[in-house]
Amino acid sequence: MVDYKKIGLVNTREMFKKAVDGGYAIPAFNFNNMEQMQAIIQAAVETKSPVILQVSKGARDYANPTLLRYMAEGAVEYAKELGCPNPQIVLHLDHGDSFETCKSCIDMGFSSVMYDGSALPYEENIRISRQVVEYAHKYDVTVECELGVLAGVEDEVSSEVSHYTKPEEVIDFATRTGCDSLAISIGTSHGAYKFKPEQCTVDPQTGRLVPPPLAFDVLEAVAKKLPGFPIVLHGSSSVPQEEVDIINANGGALKAAVGIPEEQLRKAAKSAVCKINIDSDSRLAMTAAIRKHLAEHPDHFDPRQYLKPARESMKKMYIHKIVNVLGSNDKL
Ligand SMILES: [Zn+2]
Repeated sequence: MVDYKKIGLVNTREMFKKAVDGGYAIPAFNFNNMEQMQAIIQAAVETKSPVILQVSKGARDYANPTLLRYMAEGAVEYAKELGCPNPQIVLHLDHGDSFETCKSCIDMGFSSVMYDGSALPYEENIRISRQVVEYAHKYDVTVECELGVLAGVEDEVSSEVSHYTKPEEVIDFATRTGCDSLAISIGTSHGAYKFKPEQCTVDPQTGRLVPPPLAFDVLEAVAKKLPGFPIVLHGSSSVPQEEVDIINANGGALKAAVGIPEEQLRKAAKSAVCKINIDSDSRLAMTAAIRKHLAEHPDHFDPRQYLKPARESMKKMYIHKIVNVLGSNDKL
């Protein structure tokens, strides 16, 4: 049993409270490798932002859970070395699919876990969520649960259709599970292809796809039922078209990739939403920088040559999100 507090991590309780009160959202960035982790920590330190390092099932399969957990421990020390004496870093399990997965992460030193029972029948979701919460709270680990179903594909979490969260269920769910935060479905979606072209309109000026707006009425109704309760948005990458263009101009073939406009995320961050998950934008920034670098330097073969600009590009993107979209800068 590893005590996350001993390795310098924090849970989400205090930071969510401050975020709800302050009208901003905490960034939750997924990581699978060292360059991503370095970019996230550099961005968080430079902007004085709390940050959630998220580990998905795909990341655990790819990188090994033990390595990821020690990287998070290293991240705390790295942040201190970069000049942040008291970093606020959460190590969070993204989309835990069972009680056992959540328990193993808690035992390993995670300070926060998500149990995602959103695809299960309502009562079954409550039962397992409650079981995770009871175990997690013994160790002061915070728990995110989910109601409503997001469309899209994220690692092994995928759904063809989305169902908005039903505001009439949230009080019962939050009370009976005892969860610390609630992920809801209001039209965000996993992955880089968030919407089918037929769901979008076309901007006559640019010819680009414009996605349907988020269901702010659902968010408002949920916030009214649970005043001050931390709400989480998954699938909130913006899929910057500049990055998609760089990828496509350098041998890529991303067709009709479309995300959530940043103005809508900013609006959500100012309301009850206090955690916004961003994964695909980091993948796009990294891939665009690597493709561009290799196209311009066909003789390069040292991974450090192309991973360095990739890391810089991710860092720039993370800083942009923190400062211009979530508003979590200068909060340490
Ligand atoms: Zn998600």
